[in-house]
Amino acid sequence: MNASRIKPPMTEDNGWWWEEVGRDRLPIQRCTACSTLRHPPRPMCPRCRSMAWDFIEAAGRGTLFSYTVLHHPQFPGYDYPLTIAIVDLEEGGRICTQLVDCERDDIKIDMPLEMFIHEDADGFKLPMCRPAA
Ligand SMILES: [Zn+2]
Repeated sequence: MNASRIKPPMTEDNGWWWEEVGRDRLPIQRCTACSTLRHPPRPMCPRCRSMAWDFIEAAGRGTLFSYTVLHHPQFPGYDYPLTIAIVDLEEGGRICTQLVDCERDDIKIDMPLEMFIHEDADGFKLPMCRPAA
C-alpha cells in the first residue's frame, strides 16, 4: 500500500474526536445533561437535546453487531477486500470500523472484538478492530 488513505472530513463537530484518536485514545461523546453516549460525534443529544457534552475513553472492548465485505469501488490506500464492522462497544453505543486479522470464515456475529488505534505510514491514525485475544 503506497498511496495514502482518503482522510475523513474533520469539522467543528468531529475534529476533537480525531485529535483524541491521534493521541491513541478511543473517545465516546457523552451528554453531560443526561449521560447518553453517542457516536459519531454531533452537536446535540438525540435524547434530551442538550448541546453540553464531554467524552469518555472507551476501554476498546466490544462485540460484532454486523459487518459487510467491500470489494468495489477500490480506492488507493486500502487493501481489498475490506471487512467493515459495526461494533457494539462495552460502554454502550456502536462504532463503524475495519475488522482486521480475521479470516472471513471465522467471522461470527456477537464475537468478542478489541479495538486498537492503527497508524498509517503517513502518520494518520484511526480505530480498527480485531478478534479479542
Ligand atoms: Zn442528553
